[in-house]
Amino acid sequence: MIDFTKLQSPVIIAGPCSAESKEQLFQTAESIKNIPNISLFRAGIWKPRTSPGKFEGHGETALKWLSEVKQQYNIPVCTEVASPQHVELALKYHIDVVWIGARTTTNPFSVNEIASALQNVQIPIMIKNPMHPEIKLWIGAIERIMNVGINNIAAIHRGFFYYGNDQYRNKPLWQIPLELKTQFPDIPIICDPSHIAGKKEYLFEISQKALNIGMNGLMIETHINPSIALSDKEQQITPSELKILLSKLKFLDTTSDDPLFKNTLDIFRQIIDEIDEDILNLIARRFDVVQQIALYKKEKNVMAFQLSRWKEILKNRKTISKELNISEHFIHHFLSLLHEESINIQNKILNQNDTEPITHKKTEL
Ligand code: PEP
Ligand code: MN
Repeated sequence: MIDFTKLQSPVIIAGPCSAESKEQLFQTAESIKNIPNISLFRAGIWKPRTSPGKFEGHGETALKWLSEVKQQYNIPVCTEVASPQHVELALKYHIDVVWIGARTTTNPFSVNEIASALQNVQIPIMIKNPMHPEIKLWIGAIERIMNVGINNIAAIHRGFFYYGNDQYRNKPLWQIPLELKTQFPDIPIICDPSHIAGKKEYLFEISQKALNIGMNGLMIETHINPSIALSDKEQQITPSELKILLSKLKFLDTTSDDPLFKNTLDIFRQIIDEIDEDILNLIARRFDVVQQIALYKKEKNVMAFQLSRWKEILKNRKTISKELNISEHFIHHFLSLLHEESINIQNKILNQNDTEPITHKKTEL
């Protein structure tokens, strides 16, 4: 049985989005069998489609195929469960690992029902992040499963729904799985680059990034013939493409045996600590000046936000950043945060009743 609590190296999970036919499943498994390091075969049996009228999976019939793949190729298999009936059937067909999908994690009622169905059953379970970026729901689902005595748990990061255009189908928002790791260091996190990417050309960069930040595995949708796939056609790759992708990925170590490594790193870290302190002092100085501007604006009866000034700041700082090799995306976010706080500080002063003492310290200009 896969033990997520004792993973030595990243788990690689591969297989089609959906089990479409016995042939498709067996041909995919046959072509995957010689790719090193694949430890789990996936296939969706019940497919949660956004709109009705699309392929929703073959249910119990496909579970039988999946259990035959397990026997024939001697590989553990996993599938998504979204209700107690799914759990019951998955157990009946000796499915090795089950996962809770993104749409189900969003619903605490469903997670509770699945948790009850899993009570007293020792099966490893993977929990995908909810559709929208609410870490508490993800944690809530993990806790609900833990509460029925299951500790053999992994989380799956599959990105988050968002409005608007972006190159990826779902936004990765890497800080969310990193926050989960900080709160639950013992729960491995497996990245699902397929559902983040939505298109196969982004799979490599997302997978590599996941490994670089210490994620504990990858789940990659693999289909014997993606061009005729009945679900998630654009993001699936063939077993030979998977083999190439895995061979190109760099699997990094958590640390180095080199005795000099820690000392060298410590020196760099000291420099970073000093730079961060300088940055914080500069930010505090900037906010002091903002307070003085606010007092002056108040005296002259002028509002806090000045569009032309904000535009000028953005333009000028972006030009400087370009020369300094700082990304435009980063500086835009950073300045927006600084500006938002400056407006808050100014608002506080502008709204302050004149009889209240104003607590600010003056900076030498
Ligand atoms: C899937 O893994 O095929 C799936 C439906 O994923 P998600 O729940 O991440 O959308
Ligand atoms: Mn899919």
